[in-house]
Amino acid sequence: MFSLDPSRPDQARLDSLRGDLLVRAAETEQIGPWQSGAFSLLASSGLLAGFVPAEHGGNGATEEAILESLSAVASGCLTTALVLTQWASACRIVASGPEALRHRLLPRLARGEETATVGIAQLTTSRQHVGKPALVATRRGESWWLDGTCPWVTGADSSDAIVTGAVTADGTPAFFLVSAASPGLGIGPPMRMLALSGSRTSSVSFDGVEPAEVILPSGLPQARAGGLATTALAIGATRGSIAILDSEAAKRPSLAAVADGFRAEADRLAGQLRDLARNDGPAAEARDSLRTAANSLVVRAAQAALTASKGAGFLSGHPAERGIRESMLFLVWSCPQQVAAAVMCELAHLDGPT
Ligand SMILES: Cc1cc2nc3c(=O)[nH]c(=O)nc-3n(C[C@H](O)[C@H](O)[C@H](O)COP(=O)(O)OP(=O)(O)OC[C@H]3O[C@@H](n4cnc5c(N)ncnc54)[C@H](O)[C@@H]3O)c2cc1C
Repeated sequence: MFSLDPSRPDQARLDSLRGDLLVRAAETEQIGPWQSGAFSLLASSGLLAGFVPAEHGGNGATEEAILESLSAVASGCLTTALVLTQWASACRIVASGPEALRHRLLPRLARGEETATVGIAQLTTSRQHVGKPALVATRRGESWWLDGTCPWVTGADSSDAIVTGAVTADGTPAFFLVSAASPGLGIGPPMRMLALSGSRTSSVSFDGVEPAEVILPSGLPQARAGGLATTALAIGATRGSIAILDSEAAKRPSLAAVADGFRAEADRLAGQLRDLARNDGPAAEARDSLRTAANSLVVRAAQAALTASKGAGFLSGHPAERGIRESMLFLVWSCPQQVAAAVMCELAHLDGPT
């Protein structure tokens, strides 16, 4: 049992957790981290506690330590890392809520006794081109009612609660905690995806759902270094591909230079990520440009790992095959428009977004 050190995670223990997640990765990809035991490992190792403030049963790790631990989890199992980020995002929003809710829920989340996930993309990166809000919150007296859809909720059918955001009558967002057992809530079957189907990501419909708690009746949750988690995962997934290159290089020394090249680039981006994490609220431009670089790196490293693994790596179940499919996540998941535009310009060998 270890706790994520508030300022610096214990590297040896993170490596050991990574190894345990890697052993289960193929199974987790199929059945999800709740059933494979991967999520319990995060709780029993004490890693979850790092994401929760000290006054609420956690040990309030620094942003830098959190990002490093996310990266380590992603290098062992990207499905578990994706689920962890959505859990962490739910915790972060709950931590901006009323004291009574924080006091009741956060210690239980830190110990893994209850699980939560998040469905907020309809406010940020999903359905923005559609004229009307996907999820609407209506106030009647002291009560609120939610109607509409959360198009993406990872682990919806495996979590006790969903933290969601909806648009109110005056157009501002509000955030709520919804019990997964609420009347009127329809959790769709987990979607079959190119990769990460074990994350059990579903679309969730709301038909007059009364939330269990109002977290924020208006406004946005307080962000910390916000938005850097996806980059941490991309760097972690890159390290997974570098591990494949290293094991091939043990048999074919000529590949060592390729592995070292990717390692140097991953280390450089990890250094930039640490710098941004230390800076409370980094500029969106710096954050997006790092994410763009990480997107490019994770895809190229996965391709190199497949190339080095040759035809054997093309077979279903080979880690290089899984790595290729999983690297595609970063092109679509929580990807701001500016990042998507820059990635497409790079793919098309254009100078930059117009
Ligand atoms: C594996 C996975 C897990 C996820 N888990 C979560 C989660 O737990 N919680 C969460 O909140 N979010 C989650 N997301 C959502 C994610 O963060 C993004 O919001 C999502 O990937 C955006 O894709 P979209 O298809 O919804 O985008 P949209 O922008 O809604 O695009 C949908 C389609 O609309 C069309 N379109 C798009 N833009 C325009 C335009 N300007 N004009 C005309 N047509 C247009 C295109 O044909 C596009 O294919 C997850 C995503 C993935 C892939």
